Amino acid sequence: MSSVDRVPFHDLDRSLKMQREKLLSAAATVVDSGWLVHGKQHSAFEAEFSAFIGSEHVIGVASGTDALELSLRALAGSKRSTVVTVANAGGYTTAAAIAAGLEVRYVDVDPRTHCLDHTRLEAALDDDVMAIVVTHLYGRLGDVAGVREVIGTRPISIVEDCAQASGAFDAQGRAGSLGDLAAFSFYPTKNLGALGDGGAIATSDNDLAERIRHLRQYGWIAKYDVGVSGGRNSRLDELQAAFLRTRLPQLSSDNERRRAIISEYRAAAPPSIRVLPAEGGHAGHLAVVVTDSAQSLARHMEGLSIGTAIHYPIPDHRQRAWKVDGAWLPVTDELTGRVLSLPCFPEMTSHEVAAVCNGLRTYPHSPAPSDHRSVSP
Ligand SMILES: *Cc1c(COP(=O)(O)O)cnc(C)c1O
Repeated sequence: MSSVDRVPFHDLDRSLKMQREKLLSAAATVVDSGWLVHGKQHSAFEAEFSAFIGSEHVIGVASGTDALELSLRALAGSKRSTVVTVANAGGYTTAAAIAAGLEVRYVDVDPRTHCLDHTRLEAALDDDVMAIVVTHLYGRLGDVAGVREVIGTRPISIVEDCAQASGAFDAQGRAGSLGDLAAFSFYPTKNLGALGDGGAIATSDNDLAERIRHLRQYGWIAKYDVGVSGGRNSRLDELQAAFLRTRLPQLSSDNERRRAIISEYRAAAPPSIRVLPAEGGHAGHLAVVVTDSAQSLARHMEGLSIGTAIHYPIPDHRQRAWKVDGAWLPVTDELTGRVLSLPCFPEMTSHEVAAVCNGLRTYPHSPAPSDHRSVSP
């Protein structure tokens, strides 16, 4: 196969080329307006995205990690200083919590969904827990209602990490409208991507929204008047807001295409490879499979010129800089080394999807991934 025939894991170039005219015209609007930060594009994007999500407020910030950090800072203030989350979601919440001066405690994940297992949550809750970050991993909604039930009347807030789930929905609503606060990332490879960094926080709580609007600009309650401590500079600029406005109308159909790709992979995969389902309102951010050895499947795919990636190779509690003592996360540990992500982006051609399906079909037979393990398929 020539390199032209390679199926890349991701290819940002395609959407940039396809949307070239629209993006350039959005940039021209900003340049001609002479306004670069917190102007009309930014306000319009905040309004359009909150209408889309079904939340009262959207507050633009500079990245998804900032969205998590500022959400946690907005909630801090009581004596409670521990954030509960999962350890298999890339470490963004841990980085944000540390930046906000908070402790992190991990809960294991559900082997079927790889999202927080709310049946293990109770044991992690005590008087120090202030928030639970529910990561909608790979585009699948975590069980926010289940988490809320476990919390009961305790003063613990729920933050949704929607970085991989822009546009996801279920019967309760859209990602970003289910918790007390929600963090979005517009990093270029996310489902709703900017042409650089960007992020947002969604909430329907007026007080939290106001606090975050202060925190994202130095704690100002008016220009040069600091009314809230803990603030810094985290802004979504006019150019990125304008680009995001041109892309938002396409998000739902893009997500539908992602789901369709994943269901083709499911149909093609042999019993030794379990493709995580992307049904209903799944955002289809990543096509993740579980197999006995991610490395050997990656090698097989590479032999067919198909790019893959691992999300994620090192769980948070095993990161060398974050050494966490005594974390007991058997499912998280068991899945590490067995998850592999296949190409999944809306601009993939049907020929490329077929090539990946062929790669799945021709993977040398090995036992089903659950045969000799505690993790059910
Ligand atoms: C990408 C991502 C983030 C961080 O977003 P940035 O914009 O890169 O800071 C947070 N959480 C999850 C689950 C992500 O995938």
